[in-house]
Formats: sequence, C-alpha cells, structure tokens
Amino acid sequence: PIALELEGVSKRYGETTAVDDVSLAVREGEFFTLVGPSGCGKTTTLRSIAGFETLSGGTIRFGGTDVTGVPPEGRDVGVVFQNYALFPHMTVAENIAYGLKFADPPGGVSDDQRVTELLELIDLEGMGDREPDQLSGGQQQRVAIARALAPGPDVLLLDEPMSALDARLRERLRLQVKEIQSELGITTIYVTHDQEEALAISDRVAVMNAGAPEQVATPREIYRRP
Ligand code: ADP
Ligand code: ADP
Repeated sequence: PIALELEGVSKRYGETTAVDDVSLAVREGEFFTLVGPSGCGKTTTLRSIAGFETLSGGTIRFGGTDVTGVPPEGRDVGVVFQNYALFPHMTVAENIAYGLKFADPPGGVSDDQRVTELLELIDLEGMGDREPDQLSGGQQQRVAIARALAPGPDVLLLDEPMSALDARLRERLRLQVKEIQSELGITTIYVTHDQEEALAISDRVAVMNAGAPEQVATPREIYRRP
C-alpha cells in the first residue's frame, strides 16, 4: 500500500523553481531517500510533505487522503531538521516529552511510559535526566528523533540528520537510524546530499536534480547502472 503520494508538486520562490512538478509514491514502511546536490530541492520537497510550504501547484496525499493545504499539526508526521537543536535547559526526558505537548502517546500509555519506551528505542536507557550538552552529537540527534516519534506518527521525515557529525559518527548514527526505522516499520523519508549514505540506508532512492527526481530506484538498481 501507498503511504504517501506527491502528484505534480511544484514550489516557486519568485523566479526560483525549488520543486518542479514532482510526482512520487512512497510505500508503507519504506525507507525512501531524496538525494542530490545542494539546491536541488530536497529540503523544499520535505518541507512540502511536512506542510510547512504553501505549494505553487500539485497535490499531496497521505494514505489516499488529500492533505494539500492541511497544516503540519494536521498531518501524521514526525520531523527532524538539520539543525535539530534540543532545548538546552530541558533534560533529555523533557525534550522527548515535548513531542507529546500537542498529542497523546500511542497505545494508551502515560507520557512517562512513552518516554521510557523511546529512551530504550534509541539506546539511551536511564539517561533521561541528562542535559543535552552532556550527550554526544549522535546521541543528541537520536533524542531529536525520539521527540519526533513520541506521538507515534505514521511518517518520519529526516532532513540531513547526520550533517553536524564527523564521518565515523555519521556511519554509526546511520546504522542506528536504520535500526530504529526497521524496528518500528515506520515509513521514512530521508534527505541527504551524500550518495554513499543514501545507497547504504535506503529501500529506494530518488536522485534529484534541478527540482525533480531524475531517477527513482533501489540501491541495487543504481549500483548496477550508475
Ligand atoms: P536542497 O535542500 O536540495 O539544498 P532547497 O530545497 O533548500 O534545496 O532549495 C531549492 C532551491 O530553492 C534553491 O535554489 C534555494 O536557494 C531555493 N529556496 C529554498 N528555500 C527558499 C526560500 N525560502 N526562499 C527563496 N528561495 C528558496
Ligand atoms: P540545505 O542544506 O537543504 O540546502 P539551506 O541551508 O539551503 O538548506 O536552507 C536552509 C533554510 O533556508 C531552508 O528553510 C530554506 O527554505 C531556506 N532557504 C534556502 N535558500 C534560500 C534563499 N535563497 N532565500 C531564502 N531562504 C532560503
């Protein structure tokens, strides 16, 4: 089944066409990556899916329902942006619980139970009382992911979550993100400019150029025919 569909989606800023007539279908549980050089429209596509952009044209559907024009809080998405910024004056647990400010946790559990579940999911059990600056960059980024996952969204949107990390940490976090994603089976759209990373982590990759995908394929297909 299709989790998410873009049909003829465009976004212009004045003279600049950031997203140019993009049509895509992402399957339920799929790890789908938008990859391409800076300025090719990845972030704007992701922001459009999240509901942060007013489209210049086109339609976005979640599970067959038209959500074009629906604000972010009306879409069932968790979002982690590049500059993730946890709240520095809050503990890790408080940061994650912030994700429950506007929605109840799934499964009828309490907020505290949900935070405990998520700390376990991101391998930071028992670290809820720490302050963000006591964590490594990779750990902080996992907390940002937990915050986004707290209300149990259907779709997880990640924009260059590794970009602030050094190469070794990126590789570790990449594996952890993949693990979290498969454990939950959550439909995930991931943005990166790093082709190697995209091919390592994804079920399918959309190779973007000048505002639109020029190829949508599995890593296996892309390796075979570069
Ligand atoms: P990417 O994420 O692939 O780097 P973006 O989606 O950020 O690409 O940007 C695509 C194009 O749209 C770029 O030319 C960028 O400068 C432009 N753009 C993005 N956001 C804005 C904005 N808010 N105002 C004007 N131009 C923008
Ligand atoms: P990316 O790393 O994805 O290329 P950028 O650093 O280009 O992201 O953009 C960061 C933010 O600035 C985004 O919210 C984007 O919409 C906005 N932005 C990008 N280009 C422009 C622009 N030319 N004018 C105004 N805002 C922009």
